[in-house]
Amino acid sequence: MNEVYLKGITKSYGAHLAIPPLDLDIPKGKFVTLLGPSGCGKTTTLRIIAGLEQPSDGELTLSGKSVFSGRNSHFVPPEKRGLGFIFQSYALWPNMKVDRNITLALQQARKPKDEIQERLGEALKKVQLEGYQDRFPSELSGGQQQRVAVARLIAARNSILLMDEPLSNLDAVLRTEMRTELKRLSRDLGATTIYVTHDQVEALTMSDIIVVMKDGVIQQMGSPYEIYHQPSNLFVAEFIGDPRINLFDATLEQRDSRSVLHIGEIEINLPHALPQSSGPMRLAIRPERLTLHDAPVANSLPAEVDVVQPTGSQTILSLTSQGNAVTVLIPRFVERWPSRKVWLELDAEHIMIFDSRSGQLLQTTGGPIRQENAA
Ligand code: ATP
Repeated sequence: MNEVYLKGITKSYGAHLAIPPLDLDIPKGKFVTLLGPSGCGKTTTLRIIAGLEQPSDGELTLSGKSVFSGRNSHFVPPEKRGLGFIFQSYALWPNMKVDRNITLALQQARKPKDEIQERLGEALKKVQLEGYQDRFPSELSGGQQQRVAVARLIAARNSILLMDEPLSNLDAVLRTEMRTELKRLSRDLGATTIYVTHDQVEALTMSDIIVVMKDGVIQQMGSPYEIYHQPSNLFVAEFIGDPRINLFDATLEQRDSRSVLHIGEIEINLPHALPQSSGPMRLAIRPERLTLHDAPVANSLPAEVDVVQPTGSQTILSLTSQGNAVTVLIPRFVERWPSRKVWLELDAEHIMIFDSRSGQLLQTTGGPIRQENAA
């Protein structure tokens, strides 16, 4: 069943159309991330779902009930939508202790005292803040305050959770910890979660479904695997992946029922014939799909090593090849590369080919999409 359903939702600010007609269908119990660069309309979309922003037009349904209809001038206010929120500022009440911050909504809903205590205890335990209930927010670290906000969500037991960049104020270590926490929370509550971020690592690590947006328009909606391995266009391909995907101008040729890609003088023999017309294309390949050699091998380009950056478990190499900047990711610690001149082998099974004019994905070379780690 679809838990959150937007049909033709639009939002204008004066003459500026921030969200052109938007359709979005979010299945029950999934962790869905709205991802995109600043100004792409993620927060506006989330605020529309929350009821904090009134759309200009369209229809919005939550758990099968209409909460906004432009046609019938129907609008259900946020407090009547039964949603849980965590926003960038945790919005804790500074004059209330932790226990009251967590249980305020339950008290306002006149839940029985015993039940409130039980939910408080459970929530504090889940976020490992037992013993902190008598502190004021100012007596907690940023991460602990964040966990109080999470505890409030746990206690409320909402079936739809909305989160807007909830980790952006945290340091790197806490952010990784809270990522795990929020993913576990969403799973344990069986909640439908809509999560807004511009951080692709958060999106890839946490989501069941990623919705990539640009200028208020959905570019692609799919699993993290699909978004990474089969991006629908060059925008998605370049936005997802760190280090960034490598791009080359190439020409596709059909030769003796085989497909051959030319990058300058170099030929790349593709493993499967591609039923696409010949001609100029844009070739993309992820940094981990390139291998360095000290002599030419099949499907390789001459290149020069420029900068070597070990990050611990991996090393990022910056190179130039035929005027292109190229990045290679190696899954081990390398301090320096022995030679400046190298040959870069492209894994012909993992090449993506985009239309050079429209930027749309035409083909991936590996045949039908598959999940490498699936059973
Ligand atoms: P960020 O990551 O920076 O928060 P975002 O993807 O969440 O960006 P939105 O905040 O949804 O983007 O903004 C979408 C567009 O709507 C932007 O062009 C923004 O300038 C515009 N916008 C948002 N709120 C208002 C407002 N109150 N008045 C006028 N324009 C607005």
